[in-house]
Amino acid sequence: MVTVKLMENVMKANEAAAEANARRMEEAGIFAVDMMSSPGSGKTTILERTLDALGGELRTAVIEGDLYTSRDAERVEARGAQVVQINTGGACHLDAKVVQQALESMDLQGHDLLFIENVGNLICPAGYRLGESERVMVLSVTEGVDKPEKYPAMFRSCSVALVNKIDLLEVLEMDIREVADEIRRVNPRMKILPVSARTGEGMEAWYEWLRVEVRRTRKSAVRA
Ligand code: MG
Ligand code: ZN
Repeated sequence: MVTVKLMENVMKANEAAAEANARRMEEAGIFAVDMMSSPGSGKTTILERTLDALGGELRTAVIEGDLYTSRDAERVEARGAQVVQINTGGACHLDAKVVQQALESMDLQGHDLLFIENVGNLICPAGYRLGESERVMVLSVTEGVDKPEKYPAMFRSCSVALVNKIDLLEVLEMDIREVADEIRRVNPRMKILPVSARTGEGMEAWYEWLRVEVRRTRKSAVRA
């Protein structure tokens, strides 16, 4: 069927571009994180906090994927990171080609860590590799406990889940264990980090994970 073929070609082209991106970043010794979530989960606030905390020790760049605006990019740029904005013009995910273009305009050698803030959407971003080292998702406790079961592809494709806004657990009468159980039912290997980007609670574990991964990436770049 023609439509199937077209989709296959699109995915093949994406895979090739993702491979090229991954190679470029490996050579430059950059640890790249694809950050995914539904809209409003707090990705940008987490990035702001992270840049404040790690700005002095890690050289961080950000690719901001957004449908139409540059509001998130401006927030992140105010934190002193190099930011490249991608407006998808309404497209609901980033693909490896647009990330490739963004990488071309960046000083890769000058960075250790790259965040790619994907478009807020729990469906198709999971299907498009960008060349990232790891996929991290943000799940806000305000989204309830049924997201993992409803969007299993996204939850299975990520290695870390930042469960955000835990300062609201009490108001919501929710238990973090319940959220964690639902995630593990879909992805038993998920690393779950409960955080509040607002109060800072739990954020140190996230920073430590980033430090370790950045160090590991640097080492293998030096060896190569
Ligand atoms: Mg955002
Ligand atoms: Zn999409």
